[in-house]
Amino acid sequence: MDRDEDQLARPVKAAVVGAGWAGIAAAVALADAGHDVTVFEMAPQPGGRARSVAGTPDYDNGQHILIGAYRDSLALMRRLGVDPERVLKRLPLAMPYPGEPGLRLPPGPPLIAFTRGVLAHRGWPLSARLGLLIAAGGWLVSGFRCDAKLTVAQLCAGLPAAVLRDLVEPLCVAALNTPAAQASAQVFLRVLKDALFSGPGSADLLLPRRPLSELLAKPAAAWLGDRLRLGRRVQLIEPGWRVDGEAFDAVVLACSSVEAARLTASIATAWSASAQGLGFEPIITVYLHSPGSALPEAMLALRDGPDAPAQFVFDHGQLGGPPGRYAFVVSGAAPWVARGGCDEAVLAQAIRELRWATPPVIDRMLTEKRATFACTPALVRPSARIAPGLWAAGDYVDGPYPATLEGAVRAGMAAAQGAGADAAG
Ligand SMILES: Cc1cc2nc3c(=O)[nH]c(=O)nc-3n(C[C@H](O)[C@H](O)[C@H](O)COP(=O)(O)OP(=O)(O)OC[C@H]3O[C@@H](n4cnc5c(N)ncnc54)[C@H](O)[C@@H]3O)c2cc1C
Repeated sequence: MDRDEDQLARPVKAAVVGAGWAGIAAAVALADAGHDVTVFEMAPQPGGRARSVAGTPDYDNGQHILIGAYRDSLALMRRLGVDPERVLKRLPLAMPYPGEPGLRLPPGPPLIAFTRGVLAHRGWPLSARLGLLIAAGGWLVSGFRCDAKLTVAQLCAGLPAAVLRDLVEPLCVAALNTPAAQASAQVFLRVLKDALFSGPGSADLLLPRRPLSELLAKPAAAWLGDRLRLGRRVQLIEPGWRVDGEAFDAVVLACSSVEAARLTASIATAWSASAQGLGFEPIITVYLHSPGSALPEAMLALRDGPDAPAQFVFDHGQLGGPPGRYAFVVSGAAPWVARGGCDEAVLAQAIRELRWATPPVIDRMLTEKRATFACTPALVRPSARIAPGLWAAGDYVDGPYPATLEGAVRAGMAAAQGAGADAAG
């Protein structure tokens, strides 16, 4: 028997701490590799930041968008018996604004689709369209790499103002949850590469048409059964490894970076400090309702500003949700959190910029102060391997992506593979 077969043949007793998308991915990968897995989740339900919040009907803990390039997330959903085509609405990438068709990518090979979409953009002068195509050509030639110290604003400083305003700035804050003036150009280029230039359908928007928990968390809970222990906040990890006194061969910390830093403070000091050092950016989601109204499209971009917090609005009536419900997304929301919230400002923005059949009213404002890590230039992120047999998984772990569902899933899979191999080796 060679070494690989030997490793596979030896089941490992593994603990996963946290049942967000990273923890679920790690648990499924460990179980599929034949290991004995136990998942500890402190909340009463799995899903982490990507979960539904109880209400009548349910609210999502923030509007989420997936894209066609999220291959591992989609594969994980299928693994758990969820058909992505049923629970997600697939739309070709488009950035319409109220009353403006905006940039729209036609179907076809990505490079040609991008070029055709940009050239067909009627709202931009020809010089702006050519300016974007020349810049994109330069990024392509450089392999979508740049100086790690650059911000998105610096990288794109030469682009026409209309392209910055209508595409770069909203795309940056949506994907990295960090304003262009502070966001990492290197990570932004990686997102563009994966979305726009990684094969047909990669740039497609996949919008949930079921409550967020039905995409992964609930099916994962059913699949894991009694291997998932809910309401269990892990307090102590000891070398060996012991999780609150219970012995395991390997541990995957798939909790938040703050909790992972706390749990490793005395056993992996340097790693704990790097996790503790991450900064965060908030996201606010404001739900409005207006019975009888409908937006022209399921998703519209909005121009934010001092009196206009939201960058995007989603019409849940067109997404299988309750008709007349709208989710307004305020990414990079630190200034609004400092002002105590933005529900009234979003309502005023909605009334100014959109047409309504009945006056919209505020349903609910959800604020996630630590929605994602702040994706700034040259950021040193905590490594996946903390110590032999002790691994970290989560959207913040070192990698090329910003804080996304796909980053979390890939980190979970990588940690599972590392933890399994460490413990068996
Ligand atoms: C409002 C909002 C909008 C977003 N929009 C998008 C989007 O459009 N597209 C996208 O790709 N991403 C989006 N994201 C980011 C995405 O939600 C995250 O990247 C992803 O959910 C992170 O998953 P995770 O498993 O790494 O972490 P988490 O989801 O934070 O999971 C960590 C889990 O660990 C548990 N835990 C913590 N400490 C302990 C402990 N001591 N013991 C046991 N359990 C513990 C927590 O309860 C939690 O369930 C958004 C996030 C927010 C908040």
